[in-house]
Amino acid sequence: MIPQSVRATATSVKADSEASHVEHTTCIVVGGGPGGAVLALLLARRGIPVTLLEAHTDFDRDFRGDTIHPSVMELFAELGLAEGLLQLRHTKLSSVTLPTPQGPLTLAPFRRLKTQYPYITMLPQADFLQFVVNEALRYPHFRLVMGARVEQLVEEEGMVRGVRYHLTDGWHEIRATLTVGADGRFSRVRKLAGMQAVKAAPPIDVLWFRLPRKASDSEDIMGRFGQGHILLLLNRQDTWQAAYVIPKGAYAQLHAAGLAALRHAIVELIPELADRVEQLQSWKQVSLLSVEADRLRKWYRPGLLLIGDAAHVMSPVGGVGINYAIQDATIAANVLAEPLLAGSLTVKHLRSIQRRREWPVRIVQAMQAFGQRQLAAIALDARKNFRGPGFLHVVSRIPFVRDIPGRFLAFGVWPVHLKG
Ligand SMILES: Cc1cc2nc3c(=O)[nH]c(=O)nc-3n(C[C@H](O)[C@H](O)[C@H](O)COP(=O)(O)OP(=O)(O)OC[C@H]3O[C@@H](n4cnc5c(N)ncnc54)[C@H](O)[C@@H]3O)c2cc1C
Repeated sequence: MIPQSVRATATSVKADSEASHVEHTTCIVVGGGPGGAVLALLLARRGIPVTLLEAHTDFDRDFRGDTIHPSVMELFAELGLAEGLLQLRHTKLSSVTLPTPQGPLTLAPFRRLKTQYPYITMLPQADFLQFVVNEALRYPHFRLVMGARVEQLVEEEGMVRGVRYHLTDGWHEIRATLTVGADGRFSRVRKLAGMQAVKAAPPIDVLWFRLPRKASDSEDIMGRFGQGHILLLLNRQDTWQAAYVIPKGAYAQLHAAGLAALRHAIVELIPELADRVEQLQSWKQVSLLSVEADRLRKWYRPGLLLIGDAAHVMSPVGGVGINYAIQDATIAANVLAEPLLAGSLTVKHLRSIQRRREWPVRIVQAMQAFGQRQLAAIALDARKNFRGPGFLHVVSRIPFVRDIPGRFLAFGVWPVHLKG
């Protein structure tokens, strides 16, 4: 059991100037991404004092996916927030379809799913996160600190007791019963805690850039594969977020070939972009995402839990990382709420969160690895035209079986629901 001395004060967070700005709460969440923001909301609504520390001063930063899966919509329905979420500006993706030389290959027809939300809601992540923290701010136990970059763990006798973070006005220390690292793929908390990861080696990287979207363009994801290139266009309302997949390490060669060659390759794949590709005028408009994937051997230490990408960096393939981070948050809140309220949290609770989440993560990462190998071997081989593995064309015609990939994408390996 966690000693009484580090349990939270019964009231909400308190800044104690006498104790050189040491604050106290019950749960610190480091990182206001989808995993951290949702966990903070779920704990706050159970009456648990929680402080969310986010390094950035707003939620509007680099693109990391705008997808809200049916399982997340169901969670928000359980919270009574689905209608509010759907009032934000969004679009709906009712299937995932790949263009192949034999015609469109529909991999995930969501409309046949048994759910009130048979689609992927495409909602700018910044709006989603703002919505979540606005809801959390309705609870008096919740505190949000933006611009708070966590740099150190407070450790005593082998236990994590809190963190030190940097704000524009200097250093702050906050202590809590539990610290949750939800600080994403470059997790500082993971490094500070010295946690060991099992690494995968995805064979692809992705170039990201934006191109204007026209009202007459398709609402769905657009994409073309073949002859050494893959280009996916994700609908971000006024713009297309373009993902140009390249073999790992090929960026230097591409850069040396010049921007004109990249523009040419884009138009070859999607001729409809010829009227706007000239807008790509500088490499500054193009960012390289090094695709990584890994998972921690152990997601916790006494007083510390990691969730989301901090515990398992997800490849963007399949676009499931947000869903998985929110499912981690949901399971964590289900397990943690009562012991945090009762002051009876033990390492056993933290272990049980890893036990429930590790297999779904391992399974989806294995599937992503398979997908990445297929992309690298088939679609990125300049000598071949992408046909889509033959069995996928067969699977897409078999009733019942054809719905499995959609169910898997929508809900993860098994559905996660809110308790309490
Ligand atoms: C380019 C790209 C595209 C992607 N596309 C998709 C997609 O379409 N769909 C999908 O589901 N997934 C996608 N993913 C994966 C997805 O973004 C992640 O799996 C998901 O965001 C993980 O959520 P998280 O809450 O664990 O971490 P993150 O979303 O990474 O959030 C971590 C938060 O912690 C904050 N932080 C970091 N360090 C500190 C610190 N020291 N102190 C305080 N705060 C800190 C960060 O500012 C950030 O807000 C994509 C990933 C990338 C890189």
